[in-house]
Amino acid sequence: MKIIVDKTKCTALGICESVAPDLFEVQDDGTLVILEDRPEGGLCEAAREAAEGCPTEAIRIEED
Ligand code: SF4
Repeated sequence: MKIIVDKTKCTALGICESVAPDLFEVQDDGTLVILEDRPEGGLCEAAREAAEGCPTEAIRIEED
């Protein structure tokens, strides 16, 4: 699995961070950082939930 975020769509409100804090982190300057773009195990489900919960559909998941 690979997580891709379209920075042009992301509004950095951090819903993904709330759902998956091990994967996403909004910085003080309002940018979003992907902490682990190739999650494994239980983090994969968290990544899918974050993608579904993103209000701007900025998160894309590429399954292997
Ligand atoms: S939930 Fe979507 S719009 Fe919000 S910070 Fe995460 S990627 Fe960006």
